[in-house]
Amino acid sequence: MQLQKFIGTRGGDCSVNFKGCVLNPNAPYGGLWTLADLPKFSEDEIQSFIRMDYEELAQKIFQSLGLDIPQSLLANALALYKKFDDKNTPAPLSKINKNLSIQKLYCGPTRAFKDMALQPFGEIFSAFLKDSSKEYLILVATSGDTGPATLESFANKDKIKVVCLYPEGGTSEIQALQMTTIAAKNIKVIGIKGDFDDAQNILKNLLKDEQFLQSLTQNNLALSAANSVNFGRIAFQILYHIYASLQSFSLYKRQAHIIIPSGNFGNALGAFYAKNMGFPIEKIWIASNANNILTDFIESGVYDISYRVLQKTYSPAMDILTSSNVERILFFLFGKNRTRELMEDLQKYKKYALNQEELKLLQTYFQATYCEDLYCLEKIREYANAGFILDPHTACGIKAYEEIIKNDNEAICILCSTAEWTKFAKTLSQALGMGDLGDKESLEAIASKYSLTISPNILDLFKKEIVHTQSITKEEVKQNILQWLRK
Ligand SMILES: *Cc1c(COP(=O)(O)O)cnc(C)c1O
Repeated sequence: MQLQKFIGTRGGDCSVNFKGCVLNPNAPYGGLWTLADLPKFSEDEIQSFIRMDYEELAQKIFQSLGLDIPQSLLANALALYKKFDDKNTPAPLSKINKNLSIQKLYCGPTRAFKDMALQPFGEIFSAFLKDSSKEYLILVATSGDTGPATLESFANKDKIKVVCLYPEGGTSEIQALQMTTIAAKNIKVIGIKGDFDDAQNILKNLLKDEQFLQSLTQNNLALSAANSVNFGRIAFQILYHIYASLQSFSLYKRQAHIIIPSGNFGNALGAFYAKNMGFPIEKIWIASNANNILTDFIESGVYDISYRVLQKTYSPAMDILTSSNVERILFFLFGKNRTRELMEDLQKYKKYALNQEELKLLQTYFQATYCEDLYCLEKIREYANAGFILDPHTACGIKAYEEIIKNDNEAICILCSTAEWTKFAKTLSQALGMGDLGDKESLEAIASKYSLTISPNILDLFKKEIVHTQSITKEEVKQNILQWLRK
C-alpha cells in the first residue's frame, strides 16, 4: 500500500503523514487527524494472519496501513513488549468459561492498558526527533493511569521533557507512587490541590496561554501531547484486538463480541478499525460506570452533556463526559462535514443528535451498557469467589457479558481487562469485605487470601524514595513549570 495520509476529522484541505500526526496531534478546525484509507482484508488473508506471532502481525498491519515507520524502528518499539509478563505476547487471553475469555492488557510496567500503546509510542516518538533541532515538551494531566505510563515511556529520553499534573489525593496511593518515585532529569511531576478536572483545565489553559507559549519558543521547545487522541497510540491499540479476534476465532470458529471498559474511546476505536479491516469481531460492547453518557449515546443517538455532572466512581479512568475519540467514529461513518456539524453542536449546545439512519449504522458496530458502583463491587466479589480477581474497570464489563449471554448462550466474548487489581487494591479490599485498609495493607491481605503474587513493579514502589514532592495550587503551576524549564 502507498503511504497513509492523515486528514482532519472536521475537514480542511491539508494532510500529514504518520510522523506529522504523532508529533503535532492538532488537526484543522479543532479536529483530530485520522486515516484517509483503511485496508480491508479478504477471508484468505485473514486466515493467513492466524499463524503469525505478535511481531509479524504488527509489521504486516502497519505496512498495510501505510504508516511510514522503518521496519527496524517498529521492531525496536515492539521489542519493549518483551519485558511484559509473557514475552511471546504482550496481551494474552485467558479462558474463564465456555463463553468468556479475558484479555489481559495490563502486563506491562505500570499494570494498566496504557502501556500497550505508550511503551512502543515513546520509542517511536523519540526516534522521530533524532534529526530535529528542537526539543519537545509533553504535558500530561492524569487521573491515575496515563501519568505513570507516559513517564515510564519517556523517562531519560533525549530531546523530550515531560510535565505531569495529577490531583493530589485524587489517585490511588499506588498510582501516585508510580509517578512521584520516578527519578529522571527530563521529568517533572506536580501534585495539584484540586481534582482531575482542575488538572485538565490548567493544562488546557496553558495550551492557550500566549506568554507560556512564547517562553517555550524562546527555550527552543515545541509542544506535543501523548494523550489518547494521538494516532500514534491508536495504531498500537488496533493490534491487540486483531490478535485476540484471531486467537478466539481459531478456537471457536465464530466471531467474538469484544467488551471494552471505556472512557476516551481510544481502546474501542482500535477494535472498530480492526472490525472494519475484516477481522472476526461481532459487536463492540462499550462498558461504562455511572457516568453513562456513552450508553445513552449508543442507545439513543443523542450525546448530551448539558444536564450531566461528573460523578466520582470506583472506576476513575472511566469518569469522563467528553469522550474524544468518538469523533473519529463519526468521521468514519458520516464524513467530515457531518462530523464538523455535530462537533459544533456539541460546542454550542453541549449536545448533538444523530438521525435515525445514522443511529442504525452506529448500532451495527456498537452496543453499550453500564453499571453502578454497588453492582461493580458485587461482581468483584462474585468473580473473586470463583478465583478471578478483577479490577473495578474490568468488573464493569461483566455487566455487558451478562447481557450478551442472556440473548445468546452460545456467544463468544472477549473482555478487555484494562488494569490489574493491584492498582486499585483499596477498592478491592472493600469489595471483598476486608475492612478499611490502606493500599499496601490491601495488597498484602488480598495476595495472601487468594494466593496471588504481586508484580515487583508494584511492590518495590513502597521502598523507593519519593523524589517529586511538590504540591501546589492552580495559580502557581505556570511559573513553576517555566522555572523548571529554565534550569
Ligand atoms: C484509560 C483507561 C480506560 C479507558 O480507556 P479509553 O481508551 O480512554 O476508553 C479504562 N480502564 C482503565 C483501567 C484505564 O486506565
